[in-house]
Amino acid sequence: MLKVKVKKVMLSYKFRLYPNKEIEKKLEEQLEICRWLYNRLLEEINNARKEGRKITQRDTQALIVKLKEENPELKKVYSKVLQMVNYQLWSNMRALSRLKKNRKKIGKLRFKKRERWKSLNFNQSGFSIDVKNNRISLSKMGSVKAKIHREIDGKVKGIWIKKYPSGKWYAIVQIEKEIERKEKTGKVVAIDVGIEKFLVDSDGRTVEYPKFIDKTIERIKRTQKELSRKKKGSKNYEKYRKRLAKLYDKLNNQRRDFLHKLSRYYANNYDGIYVEDLNIWRLVRKGKANTLHRHILDASWGEFMRMLSYKAEGAGKAVVKVSPCNTSKRCARCEAIVDMKLSDRVFRCPVCGWTVDRDYNASLNILKAGLGRPAVPVEREPLLQTISYKDVVLGQILSMKQEAPCVSEGWFTWVKCLGV
Ligand SMILES: [Zn+2]
Repeated sequence: MLKVKVKKVMLSYKFRLYPNKEIEKKLEEQLEICRWLYNRLLEEINNARKEGRKITQRDTQALIVKLKEENPELKKVYSKVLQMVNYQLWSNMRALSRLKKNRKKIGKLRFKKRERWKSLNFNQSGFSIDVKNNRISLSKMGSVKAKIHREIDGKVKGIWIKKYPSGKWYAIVQIEKEIERKEKTGKVVAIDVGIEKFLVDSDGRTVEYPKFIDKTIERIKRTQKELSRKKKGSKNYEKYRKRLAKLYDKLNNQRRDFLHKLSRYYANNYDGIYVEDLNIWRLVRKGKANTLHRHILDASWGEFMRMLSYKAEGAGKAVVKVSPCNTSKRCARCEAIVDMKLSDRVFRCPVCGWTVDRDYNASLNILKAGLGRPAVPVEREPLLQTISYKDVVLGQILSMKQEAPCVSEGWFTWVKCLGV
C-alpha cells in the first residue's frame, strides 16, 4: 500500500473581534496589567544581575504567584496569560543576547511604555471558539463577538488577542494541522527581487511590483498632512489618527494577500526555490533613499521570503538561500563581470554578447549558485512574461511549461561563490 506522507504544520488564522464596551474595558485593563507585570519582572531580573544573583525563567515564573499578593489586580488576568508574559520576556532576552553575540551594538531590554503592550496570549487553555454563533470565549473576560469567516480545520493550540493601532481587535488563532506533502514537480527556480519589479524568476517570469502601494501611500501622505494640522488630542485629531491607522491596515491586508498568493504559487509549483540572502542583498544594493515606498517594499520582500519558507516547508520542499556574489554584474553565460549602474535595466555582455533583462540575468546567476552548475537558456533573448499584481491576486500566474526557455548544461564549470 502506498504510504502518504503526513506532516504537522502550525497555521494561524486572523479573525476580527467586536468587543462590547464592557469587554473592551476589560481587554484594555488586562493589557495594562500584563504590561505592569512585564516591567516588574524585568526590574527583578535587572536587580538580580546587578547584585550578581543567578536568575532563571522559572524563578520569575514563581515570582508571579507572590506578586499576586502584592498586586491583587493580577488576579483579574487568566494565570496562563500571565505565564506567557514571563515567557515573552525571556524570549526577548534570548533574542537580544543572540544579537549581542553577533556583535551588533545593542542596548538593554527596555521597559514597556504605556500603550506598548498590545496582546494577550492564551496558550493551550482558557478559551473556546463557537464557530456557529461567531463567538470566542476567554477566561476571566467573557464571550466576545467575532467574525469567524472560515472553517477551523485543525487543532486549536492557542489564541492571541491583539489590538491594532487602528483600535480594531483581532484574534489570531493558532492551529495545528496535518497536511499531506505535496507531490514533487521535479522543477527548480531562482527568484531575484528587484527595485522596479517585485521579482523576476529564472523561468522568465516578471512579477510587477504591486501598484496599489503607491495609491495607498498617496492617501496616507495626504491624511498624514491633514493630521499634522490638527491640534493634538482634539476630536478632529483623533478622527484623522484613526483614519490613518485604517489606511495602514488596508495597505497591510492588500499587501499580505498579494504575498500569500505569490508565495503559494512558487511553493506549489517548484521543489527547490533559490533566493538571495536578503540581509546581504540590502547592504549590497542600497538604492533609493529611505522613503516610505522603499521601506514598505523592503518589508514586503522580507515577508515574502518568510511566507515562501514556511509554505515550502509545509509542502515538503526547500527554499535555499544563496549568498549574492555579483549576481547582477556577472554574465550568466560567460561569467564576465560587467560594470553595471543601478539604473541600467538591460544587461549587455561585451565579451559574449548576451543581452538580457538585468534581473533575469541575476536570477540565472542565483540558480547557478544554488545548483552548482550552469543554467543559461539556449535562447539568446528569451521572451519574458510580465505578470501584473492583479494576475497574482486573481491566481492567474500562467504555467510557463511550454514557453519557458530551456536550460542548457555544461557550457562551463560554475564555481560557487562563497561570499560577497
Ligand atoms: Zn558574457
